[in-house]
Amino acid sequence: MFSKRLDRIQPSATLAMTAKAAELRAKGVNVLNLSVGEPDFNTPKNIVQAAKNAMDNGHTKYTPGSGIFELKEAVCNKLLRDNQLSYSPEEIIISCGGKHALYNACQVLFEKGDEVIIFSPYWVSFPDFVSVTGAKPVFVKTVATNQYEPNFDDLQSKITANTKGIIINSPSNPTGGVWSDKAIIKTLEIANRHDLWVFSDECYEQLVYNGDFKSIASFTDNQDKLLTFQSCSKTYAMTGWRIGYTAGNKDVIKAMSKLQGQSTSCPNSIAQYAAIEALSGPQNQVLEMAKIFDTRRKLIVDGLNAIQHVKCEVPNGAFYVFPDISYFLNKTYNGNTINSCNDLSLLLLNEKHIVTVSGDAFGAPNNIRFSYATSEDIINQMLIGLREFLTLLK
Ligand code: PLP
Repeated sequence: MFSKRLDRIQPSATLAMTAKAAELRAKGVNVLNLSVGEPDFNTPKNIVQAAKNAMDNGHTKYTPGSGIFELKEAVCNKLLRDNQLSYSPEEIIISCGGKHALYNACQVLFEKGDEVIIFSPYWVSFPDFVSVTGAKPVFVKTVATNQYEPNFDDLQSKITANTKGIIINSPSNPTGGVWSDKAIIKTLEIANRHDLWVFSDECYEQLVYNGDFKSIASFTDNQDKLLTFQSCSKTYAMTGWRIGYTAGNKDVIKAMSKLQGQSTSCPNSIAQYAAIEALSGPQNQVLEMAKIFDTRRKLIVDGLNAIQHVKCEVPNGAFYVFPDISYFLNKTYNGNTINSCNDLSLLLLNEKHIVTVSGDAFGAPNNIRFSYATSEDIINQMLIGLREFLTLLK
């Protein structure tokens, strides 16, 4: 009944776990949800007020398909202020979240016969964005002990005459890894040599804990084939507002606008006005949220590493930790063998009501993702429950 296109994509594993957690909570269970991919803070009041003003002022109609000019200008000012990048409004498109932006870009640039490099572990949606176009996702290994920077031998060996693009995500979901300048420069050199499109997904750009974030585009003068994706979602606790944007080559931006115009018409009008305030208004709340995340990061990393046989790298960004739990694979619980990290993740949910996302979904069968976009209390309860559960495994 359905098109082949649909067979090429998987349901989002992270959204599936969020739904499971909601189901349990509705039954009255005290769920410890560490699966969420969004800040647990409210959207700052000044941004909410800007949305109310937009409605009062009648900004409740369709906008231009690629977003309102004032927001594009605000994005340009933001890119200059925070990322030292100089773009003009015709090089910007506003979309319904970073996800929509990345989806559109894949649609306009990739097709059957193309190969696109994705670094593993990867955000669950990257392979699907690529596969749905008919192109083939090609996975490249990374080095866990080095902020999940590329394994460059593997990268070189995976590039073929069909390679068309490369997707970078630093800080990364699910690992929290932040690449060094050296790794970025080397990756850009390789991409340049093979004339690849470079996508830089920077939706966690404001959540870097040791030093300043540097946008990938700031490492090169040759930005013709480099697209930068950012979003209001994680930075301003605006996940439900659905505003993300792309900066890059104006022909690609035009192509994305054409597609967007025929699919969603335009991003939400009210949210676009709110996003102007988010990007242009006071930024102190972004720093405050990042500080709270940093405290939780230390708590969860130390707590996980204090559990015997759990190995957790210290991520330098985002709000995820991605411990290696391979020691527990093939152990048994009540006589049943734990065959995969997915089994372990499900047992944690059923036995301890701890919601995580198994690494399988991210191409990492030895890991489980915990989000620390939740309270210290929940992190502490999770650590106790996890320790108790793991000691029961034989
Ligand atoms: N990119 C990465 C790596 C993400 O983790 C997410 C959300 O989880 C997104 C992009 C998309 O976010 P949004 O569509 O809310 O901007």
